[in-house]
Amino acid sequence: MRAEVVAVGTELVLGDVVDTNSAWIGRRLAEAGIDSHFQTKVGDNVERIEAALRVALGRSDAVIVCGGLGPTPDDVTREALARVMDVDLVRDEEVLDRIAERFERRGRPMPASNERQAEVPKGAIVIEQRRGTAPGLVCPLGDRVVYAVPGVPHEMTEMVERAVVPDLEQRGGGGAVIVSRVLRTWGEDESALAEQLAPRIEALDQAPNPTLAFLASGMDGIKVRITAKAPTMADARAVLDAEEAAVRAILGQRVFGVDDETIESVVGTLLGDAGLTLGLAESMTGGLIASRCSEVPGSSGWFRGGVVSYASEVKFDLLDVPEGSVVSATAAEAMAAGARRVLESDVGLSVTGVAGPETQEGVPVGTVFVGVALGDEVAAVLLRFSGDRTSIRRLASSAALDLLRHRLLDRPG
Ligand code: ATP
Ligand code: MG
Repeated sequence: MRAEVVAVGTELVLGDVVDTNSAWIGRRLAEAGIDSHFQTKVGDNVERIEAALRVALGRSDAVIVCGGLGPTPDDVTREALARVMDVDLVRDEEVLDRIAERFERRGRPMPASNERQAEVPKGAIVIEQRRGTAPGLVCPLGDRVVYAVPGVPHEMTEMVERAVVPDLEQRGGGGAVIVSRVLRTWGEDESALAEQLAPRIEALDQAPNPTLAFLASGMDGIKVRITAKAPTMADARAVLDAEEAAVRAILGQRVFGVDDETIESVVGTLLGDAGLTLGLAESMTGGLIASRCSEVPGSSGWFRGGVVSYASEVKFDLLDVPEGSVVSATAAEAMAAGARRVLESDVGLSVTGVAGPETQEGVPVGTVFVGVALGDEVAAVLLRFSGDRTSIRRLASSAALDLLRHRLLDRPG
């Protein structure tokens, strides 16, 4: 069973509204173990909707079309469906009664335009509307089928859950779920990761379940997505567990978290478990790391605060950074120690560097020093990044947090 989504709405194509419906349906189909390889967006135009539906029906067993079922003249999904089915639109009196009833209950007269919503392509089965006025449609086309559901997200989800997914499962003979798990990594670029995981990927090629995919996402690192298909959720989870273990055995500590975990949330957990607090001294990141830390729920338990020591004098006067280059290992170490002292935290973390676009004191753009003061040790590391000012600042914030993560993991005891 293969199903795909056609989302109707000029606002989607113009980018005024983000097509969250397709994303939601895609996830729901995967959970139900239904293969889905395409998603289309098309404007409110009857010829183009018809064309999109024909293309979709040419390669999938089922098509879910959302939107364009409203009462206004630009809502033409019904007309497009009638064309694809090669039938007329006929008025469904029952549907009309239900719409009229709805307006009556709210003590309002039914606008004539709403009568259009009771027009149904001949041969289509109506899915009762429970949340709005537009009913859904099941349109059989030989051994294929088109489901039409409303565009309003909460009406769409209700109808897909209640009527579409069960019908698809029945047609598909049921029997499989597709689930994914994302392992999140920092410290290696995509090609290096791919190289290290090549033996794994080759082994999986022989038996293509599960599958591995890479997803680079800037300051969020590189994601390795494992996808498994199995008869039951428990079976799929077992496949994911086994593959996660295999990948972790290769990547080790470069995997910092799973699914929604972030570097800062993981650092927070490590600090919280160890009963340690964190103080920051940020120069080039200007509070970005503090912002990320404070976004983690429960961070008040481990995050003391941060000093945005942007100007050199603030570094000298407040943090006791010795006179000299402020983009140096010495400065980063002094900043980390200074943050720990000023903020009375157990751990100090600092960042100083050149985000660009101009070089600074002859130091090239992308040069970053990260300092960590932990226990008796105060040390700094030199890192280099490329990109524009925004990405260098973001990458530096992640790299600093990740360095601290490694230090906490490697801590004796
Ligand atoms: P319906 O079939 O329910 O009448 P419609 O296309 O006629 O849908 P619109 O007026 O176009 O309804 O959209 C109703 C609301 O639903 C709007 O707020 C729109 O932004 C939202 N919407 C429509 N399609 C999508 C989509 N694919 N993803 C997210 N939101 C959507
Ligand atoms: Mg619309």
